[in-house]
Amino acid sequence: MTRTLLGVWAHPDDETFLSSGLVLDAHERGDRVVLVTATRGERGTDDPVAWPPERLGRLRERELEAALAVLGVDEHRWLGHVDGACALADERMAARAVATVIEEVRPDTIVTFGPDGVTGHDDHRAVGRWTTRARDAVAPTAELLRAVLVPGFTRRFADVNAALGIFMDEPADDVAPDRHTVLTGDRLDRKMAAMLAQDSQTRRLVEAVGFAAFRRWWAEEAFVRTAPAVRAAAA
Ligand SMILES: [Zn+2]
Repeated sequence: MTRTLLGVWAHPDDETFLSSGLVLDAHERGDRVVLVTATRGERGTDDPVAWPPERLGRLRERELEAALAVLGVDEHRWLGHVDGACALADERMAARAVATVIEEVRPDTIVTFGPDGVTGHDDHRAVGRWTTRARDAVAPTAELLRAVLVPGFTRRFADVNAALGIFMDEPADDVAPDRHTVLTGDRLDRKMAAMLAQDSQTRRLVEAVGFAAFRRWWAEEAFVRTAPAVRAAAA
């Protein structure tokens, strides 16, 4: 039986950083994969003069398309939120929009951010809340996976994390994941290709620490699992 994986993320590149291995696993099993992105990431730049939101948004759409092609994902939806403003959105309405996608796609597994948003980004936390709420409301029998940092991430990658400053807070890596994947070989090559396809976001990181360190940095993925609610026995 074909199963369906639905990923709900905040910005183009979140899906690649956090769930490439999950997506590749799903494809290898012949599962359907649908990804949703809340914003176009149009404010994700240190140079908003050269890259005003409209221009960066268009670029990131194209970059995401290229990354999804590398990962073999051909079903993707936008939620149309403003980058950086997810936490300001009406939570009930935002969760409703995610629920609509869930009802349409009917996923067996939903993957999103945990409460800390992995990096502490407010958009990540908000999207994680909407998705958890939507799943609880309309698909409690779907498995819920929430991305977390792999154990020891803070210690193992202290230098890289400090150099790049993508973490808003001291990241929490003390959660024991239920699912921990280490990508190697061809699978890691594909993840890296998908990451490099999102050049506006990853070039700076690769240049700062070198490709080998970058490759090690995101070679692992970890998730906390909320089991599906047990279906009521048929009367
Ligand atoms: Zn993000």
